[in-house]
Amino acid sequence: MTGDMRPEDFKTVYDRFQASVSRFDCGRFCSPLNGGQPVCCDTAHAIPIVDKPEFELLKGRTDLWHKYKPTDANARKIVAELHKGCMAIECKGARFCERDNRTLACRAFPFYPYFTKQGELIGLGTYWTFADRCWLMSNMQVVERQFIKEFIAAYEYVFERDPEELTAMKKHSANHRRQSTRLNKPILLIGRKGGFLKVMPKTAEVRPAAEKDLVKYGPYKSPRAYAKAVKEYGGEMPKQSPFVD
Ligand code: SF4
Ligand code: SF4
Repeated sequence: MTGDMRPEDFKTVYDRFQASVSRFDCGRFCSPLNGGQPVCCDTAHAIPIVDKPEFELLKGRTDLWHKYKPTDANARKIVAELHKGCMAIECKGARFCERDNRTLACRAFPFYPYFTKQGELIGLGTYWTFADRCWLMSNMQVVERQFIKEFIAAYEYVFERDPEELTAMKKHSANHRRQSTRLNKPILLIGRKGGFLKVMPKTAEVRPAAEKDLVKYGPYKSPRAYAKAVKEYGGEMPKQSPFVD
């Protein structure tokens, strides 16, 4: 983000966006396939990008976060291409997580605010490149209503103040539509008022969707696929089964 959000505006966002995404500790389900680290808390997979005023706020509240130092060519490229108002940061790791000092990106993952071609914010899209690793993306039925409400309110608050972030998310939604058309598969969304929606490839028409339309990916397709993946990776099976209603 690069716009007009001040550190105190991020504090307001943090105060209002505290709901847990679901009643599950989903890191327990993806971490056996990632060396014991939740995938979204590992900069080898996801580098948290924040607006500089957001880092200002965090620095004043905690020593959990530091500036991220790229470790390979790909990460160097990501950091080099950031807008000057943004920066890449890294926390001390999941064992040291401080719930109140999570970034907006931490609170929202794996979702982003989805905009139609006409510019309407209709729901929560997913960061689709994580579908093979993120358990939650195969289990969107567990997302709590309160989380959806707070997510939408938080982003609307940001968009009212930061037009560049609004443009970035509209662009991201357009990229998602291009990817959906390429694969000829609909985009599945959580509607801003709950329920599910699907955005059809090519036409971008938005239709209601049902739980049966949700897709399971990779190791989360079946208990057998999960057990096999954990065994091949050399991880430890979680105590609670990742296959939930
Ligand atoms: S949101 Fe996805 S990647 Fe992050 S901890 Fe949960 S299952 Fe893992
Ligand atoms: S602050 Fe917590 S949620 Fe955010 S990346 Fe670190 S461990 Fe994960």
